[in-house]
Amino acid sequence: MDTVLTIAGFDPSSGAGVTADLMVFAAHGLFGTACITALTVQSTLGVRACHPVDPFVLADSLACLCDDLPPKGIKIGMLGTESAVAAVCDFLERMRASGSAVPVVLDPVVRSSSGRELLEKSGLDLLRGRLLPLTDWVTPNRDELRRLTKSNGESDSEIVQLASALQSGGRPLHVLATGGDSNPPNDLLVLPDGEPHLLQGEHVATSSTHGTGCAFSSALLSRLVLGDAPLTAATQAKRYVTEALRRATPVGHGHGPLAHLLPRGRPC
Ligand code: PLP
Repeated sequence: MDTVLTIAGFDPSSGAGVTADLMVFAAHGLFGTACITALTVQSTLGVRACHPVDPFVLADSLACLCDDLPPKGIKIGMLGTESAVAAVCDFLERMRASGSAVPVVLDPVVRSSSGRELLEKSGLDLLRGRLLPLTDWVTPNRDELRRLTKSNGESDSEIVQLASALQSGGRPLHVLATGGDSNPPNDLLVLPDGEPHLLQGEHVATSSTHGTGCAFSSALLSRLVLGDAPLTAATQAKRYVTEALRRATPVGHGHGPLAHLLPRGRPC
């Protein structure tokens, strides 16, 4: 079984963060490991508090996991603080210097859909300047894209321009601007050579939307590790999320989780 790694926050309600990522990896037949960047206090009703994990623990966990269980791909989600971003950059720089070319997918989580800021401002600056050039894919929603580029844009052509603006340095970067909060929920993929692709989405009427961005980026990483070409991986990840939204049944009193596994824990 191939091993993949998620570096993200812990959501005790399991809609988002590492627990959701691990379910997505399992649904793709991959073995997931996790490095937790922050403990959040939240339920389906929203985020109450965030407690960052000591960056020394992050660095130690990443080194420990990679020695024994080298990942075939890495997904990065909520980082929370500037020092967490720095610890992840140090780790990726060492990994790249050793010749590793495993795919890295960055979901630049800035704010929860319930409205809580999940990354401090200095952390966003470091993410933009140092982390982005170390990654292969970035999957911002429209709000995250505007914050990353410090620019405005609404139309498809403006979104493509903002996405291209992120591709100025470092590794060849695939920018996938997600549109789950628009109707229709179309995504825009801009390949490293600047070629844009529209990925048409289908609106699913459900309140079980918590962690949609986490699920998409983890499904995308899974498809890349399983060998899909970029456009196929993005299309299949979108299809996976649409199905997981469609299958979801209400959990909790707010925005519940997607359905990643088969009902009643049916074994495969
Ligand atoms: N990652 C973690 C650990 C979170 O706690 C959250 C939100 O609370 C997110 C990501 C973003 O998820 P969503 O956009 O569904 O709120």
